[in-house]
Amino acid sequence: MTPAGADPRDLEAYRQRARSWLETAAPTSLPEDYRLRTEALRTWHRTLYRAGFVGIDWPAEHGGQGLTVEHALAFIEESARLGAPQPFGAIGLHVVGPTLLRHGTDEQLARFVEPLLAGEEVWCQGFSEPDAGSDLASLRTRAVVEGDRFVLNGQKIWTSWADDSDWCAVLARTDPDQPKHRGISYLLVDMTTPGVTVRPITQITGDAEFCEVFFEDVAVPRTNLLGPLNGGWDLAMHTLAHERSGYALRRRAELEVSYTQLLHAVREERPSPETAAAVGGTYVALGGLAALSRRAVRRARNAEVPSPLDSVDKLALAHGEQQLFGTALDLLGAHRTAPLSAESGLDGEQIVRDYLHGRSASVYGGSEQIQLTIVAERLLGLPRTR
Ligand SMILES: Cc1cc2nc3c(=O)[nH]c(=O)nc-3n(C[C@H](O)[C@H](O)[C@H](O)COP(=O)(O)OP(=O)(O)OC[C@H]3O[C@@H](n4cnc5c(N)ncnc54)[C@H](O)[C@@H]3O)c2cc1C
Repeated sequence: MTPAGADPRDLEAYRQRARSWLETAAPTSLPEDYRLRTEALRTWHRTLYRAGFVGIDWPAEHGGQGLTVEHALAFIEESARLGAPQPFGAIGLHVVGPTLLRHGTDEQLARFVEPLLAGEEVWCQGFSEPDAGSDLASLRTRAVVEGDRFVLNGQKIWTSWADDSDWCAVLARTDPDQPKHRGISYLLVDMTTPGVTVRPITQITGDAEFCEVFFEDVAVPRTNLLGPLNGGWDLAMHTLAHERSGYALRRRAELEVSYTQLLHAVREERPSPETAAAVGGTYVALGGLAALSRRAVRRARNAEVPSPLDSVDKLALAHGEQQLFGTALDLLGAHRTAPLSAESGLDGEQIVRDYLHGRSASVYGGSEQIQLTIVAERLLGLPRTR
């Protein structure tokens, strides 16, 4: 998918170029209002694409830059360091997109990849259902073949950014007579098709990022089947692997920036022994995450996806994120709404939001208990307990 290993000199020059571009182009603040913020982020995505900073490690023949995962990571690190936002279409770029690239037909790649990278078409991931989260294979959304189309009926839930998405990667049961992992297909669904209804759900942060999605006799062309009919489970595992490991790579860079700010603030506050210990614990957690992310880069470069190691990355991310913002929140104490110190750059309100959002890291992409079970059974070879 990418050229051979990154030349470190080239990588350093690339990093410098990215940094100077970001210093002038990146927005310095985003609107407080969720809707306005979303619009600003969509615009930012398009700006990034035009400047050649989206799809950095995607193949050039599909509109990417054809560089390495190390280049992509260097750009993420520079963005995080300057507090620049990520492009809006995170699910398309980091979760669904890699599966599309791996399994799409030539026609599907020609149709979908460039608009996805350009931010012209935003994607969401319609996997979870009210009775199918951890036990995803028990999903009940049905797609029945009728001539040259599927007719889709059912409900998804917790679908992030569905309200802002143009396309959804939907897992649907296409053969109810097969064992439950076997009769599932992976469909690419146009969210403007008649019969699709989206209802946003407000989260504890106050944002309505995820949604319920209802499908009522939705017509999906057969050409929008990704991979084989009834073979969607393996593709779903590929998508989830990218969500668990790829997202951890990106988020780590942001956490390290917040950690540096926390450290500045703690130094100024003359910390208690408890606070100092908590900050030390966070350093250890983030150091572990950094080591894991070097291994994740190697796996991504060698296309070793999915792997039970993706679950380790996901668990380490949740632990690091919760430890970091839990420590920051404790430190804030009663001064929650004021910036902790102008010097440190730590913003009290942002910390509260990050802390609340961090709770969901134990759930999205597969819950903590399920990831621990995957590690026990598939990595450590312990016998199945169920
Ligand atoms: C912020 C956020 C964004 C999300 N975005 C999306 C999205 O875009 N698309 C999408 O499809 N889904 C999305 N999800 C849904 C997410 O994938 C599910 O919430 C997750 O897989 C857990 O499923 P569930 O909520 O049904 O919980 P359940 O499966 O009902 O689990 C409830 C609890 O029981 C535990 N449990 C269940 N089974 C077992 C078991 N066998 N062994 C031990 N413990 C068990 C779980 O660990 C959990 O603690 C999102 C979730 C969040 C929080």
